[in-house]
Amino acid sequence: MSNKLHIVSLGCTKNLVDTEVMMGKLQNFELTDDKENADVIIVNTCGFIDAAKEESLNTVLSLHEARKEDSLLVMAGCLSERYKDDLMEQVPEVDIFTGVGDYDRIDELLIEKKSRFSDEVFLIDGAERVVTGSTYHAYIKLSEGCNQTCSFCAIPSFKGKLNSRNLDSIAKEVEGLVTKGYYDFSFVSQDSSSYLRDQNIKDGLSLLIQRIELIDGVKSARILYLYPSTTTIALLKNIAKSNIFHNYFDMPMQHINDDMLRMMKRGFGKVKSLELLNFMRSLPNSFVRTSFIVGHPQETDAMFEEMCAFVKDFGFDRVNVFAYSDEETTSAFDMKDKITAEVISARADILGAIIDECTQESLQKEVGQEVELIIDGESDEHAYLLSAKRTIWAPEIDGEIYVNDRTKDEDLVYGKIYKAKVTELVGKVLTATVDNA
Ligand code: SF4
Repeated sequence: MSNKLHIVSLGCTKNLVDTEVMMGKLQNFELTDDKENADVIIVNTCGFIDAAKEESLNTVLSLHEARKEDSLLVMAGCLSERYKDDLMEQVPEVDIFTGVGDYDRIDELLIEKKSRFSDEVFLIDGAERVVTGSTYHAYIKLSEGCNQTCSFCAIPSFKGKLNSRNLDSIAKEVEGLVTKGYYDFSFVSQDSSSYLRDQNIKDGLSLLIQRIELIDGVKSARILYLYPSTTTIALLKNIAKSNIFHNYFDMPMQHINDDMLRMMKRGFGKVKSLELLNFMRSLPNSFVRTSFIVGHPQETDAMFEEMCAFVKDFGFDRVNVFAYSDEETTSAFDMKDKITAEVISARADILGAIIDECTQESLQKEVGQEVELIIDGESDEHAYLLSAKRTIWAPEIDGEIYVNDRTKDEDLVYGKIYKAKVTELVGKVLTATVDNA
């Protein structure tokens, strides 16, 4: 088999790590963007909500259209796992189907040219991966699966129960990546603040912080996907005490109205959530990110307005808004009083506009600040502008900064941390002058 591989990773950063594991197993292949001449095409799909499912299926079908005669087309990941029987019957264009259990056996599947769905959900533990998208940053998976039962979410139905990696496995992976020059890490999972709770350890993340801090060469880190009811003030204090973990707080709230939170089976409630959020906000240089769902069954105008008012007042740095997606196997799917698609879309637009204003306010506050940033490379905007991110920011999702000046007329090193002054907010992007004197 000659060896040109075209691989597409859809969905979340957890899926990206699994894609990188597949790339790690296929290092004998030459990576190519040229889908028409690829010998093997792999799509690691997302099966979370309708929009993501549609994108995954369309991606697979359009690659089938483009591919050459004797190539192999592989459909992997969450969509494939969730709808394996239907897809294998209805999508004959695909040669090999696999789900979320065989990422580290992809090489065998290609040789056997057979579909395979192992019962176990794959969790990286020492598998070599090809980190993509950066020379200094890598996502690190903490666990797979989830023990929460949020009403709108189908993930536990195909990713299973919470299964945490042990600390040694994570530390070994980070140590290995540090030797390759990586120093900035984002720790991800479905529910990070429940890390190690499946092993009856309540403060897993605090243990993680202590362990990662012992690794020479780790300069910067953040934790994504905190879950309100398993996030404690003690944890937030440990993050704040850390010299490596930023005061970066990503805690999807999904709603703020108490009745709706109960209906969503996220019954932590407004008061306790606010206690956590206000504490996060009170910490120095804190960055608070969250997400909300609009249009969940039985969401009244009043509940929606309460959420809008809350978002307007709290001052989040970044917020995602999701339109409710009616997912079979979830408890919300069987609820009455569903909201119409028109109303859901109108609410997403309204909250989206409020969120844009919050983001602009957060960015505006940075103008004039001395910050630390990392140069990623030439911007897509203009050859004279370099693209950078603040060290506290997570890659891609929190935006970029255009570096348009420096204090010394010398080339800047990509992937290096620099001190800089934020000079202006141009549209939705900050500009900065790097201090390289
Ligand atoms: S925490 Fe809730 S939304 Fe997130 S994966 Fe678990 S069940 Fe789904």
